[in-house]
Amino acid sequence: MAIYGYRCSHCSEIEVAFPIGTAPADVPCPDCGAISVRVFSTPMLARTPAAVSAQSQRAERSASEPEVVTSLPRRRAAGAVAAHPATRRLPRP
Ligand SMILES: [Zn+2]
Repeated sequence: MAIYGYRCSHCSEIEVAFPIGTAPADVPCPDCGAISVRVFSTPMLARTPAAVSAQSQRAERSASEPEVVTSLPRRRAAGAVAAHPATRRLPRP
């Protein structure tokens, strides 16, 4: 089954599933019964990875509605050195 788009002149666009290659040129609108003509659109040839899509949507949301935080970001104490396990036993000044 494939999903085909149709446009009703009275309502809006509708999507109807037909087996591939059997979609008629027009179908009756499910809402008003008027003839809806088939609309051709770009097929979805590639899928965006979920992580990229989620990040993109988050960036779009934050452009108009910044995220609300409940606390300040944590800071390191002044003079504190990041304790890396490989450098833990080296002499300090
Ligand atoms: Zn309609």
